[in-house]
Amino acid sequence: MRQGTIPPVVAARWALWTFVIVNLVIVEVLFLKAGTGKNGVLTVAKFFGLHAAVLMLFQLLLVARLPWLDRRIGMDRLTVWHRWLGFTLLWTVLAHALLVVLGYARLDGASATKTFGALAGVPASLLGMCAAAIVVAVAAVSARYARRRLRYETWHGLHLLLYVALGLSFVHQLLETTTFSSSAPAKIYWWALWLAAFGALVTGRIVMPLWRNAYHRFRVTAVVPESDNVVTVHVTGRHLDRLPARAGQFCIWRFPGHHPWWSANPFSLSAAPDGRTLRLTAKAVGDASAGLRHLPIGSRAFVEGPYGAFTSLQRTRPGVVLIAGGVGITPVRALLEEETAGDVVVLYRVRSENEAVLVDEVRALVASRGGRLHLLTGRTGEGRSPFEPESLRALVPDIVERDVYVCGPPRMTSAVLSALRTLKVPHRHVHAERFGLA
Ligand SMILES: Cc1cc2nc3c(=O)[nH]c(=O)nc-3n(C[C@H](O)[C@H](O)[C@H](O)COP(=O)(O)OP(=O)(O)OC[C@H]3O[C@@H](n4cnc5c(N)ncnc54)[C@H](O)[C@@H]3O)c2cc1C
Repeated sequence: MRQGTIPPVVAARWALWTFVIVNLVIVEVLFLKAGTGKNGVLTVAKFFGLHAAVLMLFQLLLVARLPWLDRRIGMDRLTVWHRWLGFTLLWTVLAHALLVVLGYARLDGASATKTFGALAGVPASLLGMCAAAIVVAVAAVSARYARRRLRYETWHGLHLLLYVALGLSFVHQLLETTTFSSSAPAKIYWWALWLAAFGALVTGRIVMPLWRNAYHRFRVTAVVPESDNVVTVHVTGRHLDRLPARAGQFCIWRFPGHHPWWSANPFSLSAAPDGRTLRLTAKAVGDASAGLRHLPIGSRAFVEGPYGAFTSLQRTRPGVVLIAGGVGITPVRALLEEETAGDVVVLYRVRSENEAVLVDEVRALVASRGGRLHLLTGRTGEGRSPFEPESLRALVPDIVERDVYVCGPPRMTSAVLSALRTLKVPHRHVHAERFGLA
């Protein structure tokens, strides 16, 4: 990146914030113009209902995998925001539902339970209640305690129920008298927002992947065992030079015919894309990753992506430190291949030297770039961690002056990020990829 230009991540954040603020201002103006509800409580209920609708639409944009946003902000960060917004949506929906019941109870002079029963008999309200129940159920299984105990596929399947909630709440809003139905401009705005959010989602999640796979027709060309539990898969396709992939990015891979169609796993590109092949290197942790070893040559691959902002697009400094833990070496190795400047230091943390995946390739690349490689062996919790602030500074005395890329298991990545904060490495120099989405 040239000095003086706005870093891409900053530009994307500004664009996103501007979009959010402009829309919030429009929504507040529409709310004020629409007038009050039948009593004070119902007016506040209306306010929360309106904001729940808008939050849902923002949620769609965050998960739409729009390449421009994804490449600058990164899917991991967008997913974290999606998670926070999801819980905000939960409380907004609950506040709306509770206030609607209390508002009508006050209006009719009836108890809250009786009013709830009466509202459940009205189709428009019933749809809203069902949507709210789904939001509550999905939030419950997304809380950290439950999430850790569920298989990824189970949690993801339940999470998809939110699309049902979205459909129900859409009809709920169509049937109810809302701020959005209060005037012609409000109606136009509301439809435009839904169309834009849905358009983004359908384009990013369905049209682009289907189009790319039809165009590139990905196929497995080689499967190379790296060790007992790590395998490298080479994939080719038509016109791969037109796939906008960068070193450091990842794809979501499906191997139909070999794995069940719903099995889709993110793996980073373990080599810089050369316009002819894509390469992934995977450690066996479950059925899908273990099964890659048995992929037949020639089998079809369905590839979503490339995604992620862990790329040289984020570079701000001439010098760079690449820190990898275990199989987190995959995007780091690809980035290293792309690095042309010599001022590169690689810190590679592994339990033991013979567990260091792709180490020979990394050594050769570091040597060809005149850089330094530190292979840091040992287990987390045993002895002094190489990622304590002082140890990091001893390994790379000018770390504050460099860009730092970190990729590894979530615990290691958090430890490194905390050390970098202690060392006062500027936030904009630090780029992380966690092998786990929020
Ligand atoms: C951005 C990213 C890049 C990655 N790159 C690599 C890589 O280059 N090499 C490598 O070995 N591993 C990588 N991983 C980890 C890899 O995705 C998981 O190890 C793999 O998906 C496990 O799948 P499984 O079905 O074999 O095991 P399971 O036992 O089913 O899954 C183990 C864990 O992997 C995670 N996981 C499974 N499926 C998904 C999914 N579709 N999306 C997100 N997380 C999932 C979940 O946390 C799950 O608990 C990456 C992960 C992410 C998020």
